[in-house]
Amino acid sequence: DPKYKLRNVEVFYDDARAIKNISLDIGRNEVISFIGPSGCGKSTFLRCLNRMNDSIDICRVKGELLLDGEDIYRSKNDVVELRARVGMVFQKPNPFPKSIYDNVAYGPRIHGLANRKADLDEIVESSLRKAGLWNEAKDRLHGMATGMSGGQQQRLCIARAIAVSPEVILMDEPCSALDPIATAKVEELIAEMSESFTIVIVTHSMQQAARVSNRTAFFHLGHLVEVNETTKVFTAP
Ligand code: ADP
Ligand code: ADP
Repeated sequence: DPKYKLRNVEVFYDDARAIKNISLDIGRNEVISFIGPSGCGKSTFLRCLNRMNDSIDICRVKGELLLDGEDIYRSKNDVVELRARVGMVFQKPNPFPKSIYDNVAYGPRIHGLANRKADLDEIVESSLRKAGLWNEAKDRLHGMATGMSGGQQQRLCIARAIAVSPEVILMDEPCSALDPIATAKVEELIAEMSESFTIVIVTHSMQQAARVSNRTAFFHLGHLVEVNETTKVFTAP
């Protein structure tokens, strides 16, 4: 069974159709990149996958979006639960104006994942380790997240997403605000994370898609024009 099964998905902003009739399966341990020029609908599409666009009044989603066989727009489970299953990392690192510890502990606290302080400490440590940030953060856990470099902040946002043990992580241009060294670190993380999570990345960078993803999907004016194995897409003829 695929992780996501999308059938005839369309997204409208009022009468304007931003996403046009997309049908696609996304596999469980896949890293899939969505690529295309600005305005082609990449973010709109990504935000359907955890109903992040619910907050936009004029936004309407049609079609079937099945996650583990259940339609997320018709499910009785609430969006808070959905967003714990499907985490998100944004273009601009957006840690809460809190300590490093409290950023990572935020989700586990809300979802009641740790009853004892020791359990929470363990989740924070393992999440920071998985985000490659433990050595840099361990001596300043109670320092402000906003005191870190941009690349560290983005890895903290990844740790914050990981902390609730999601099944899927959505990444919207996760490296666009980062320098090349920070970008390389995040790309390395993506490769490691793919063992444990389904990863869906929006990027405008062909090179990034080629480096990190198993499959690459091309958007043009709201249409999905090609989806293929990344090695096939980027192999010279
Ligand atoms: P990016 O493509 O880098 O995410 P945009 O400038 O396209 O940046 O979008 C920034 C924000 O503005 C997003 O939240 C998006 O939903 C919103 N937005 C984009 N286009 C429109 C529009 N035509 N009308 C209203 N809001 C829009
Ligand atoms: P991309 O992520 O590829 O840059 P978007 O998904 O942001 O593309 O935008 C796709 C289309 O939807 C664009 O025409 C954009 O102007 C429009 N759009 C995006 N967000 C909004 C919004 N909040 N309100 C109205 N139109 C929007």
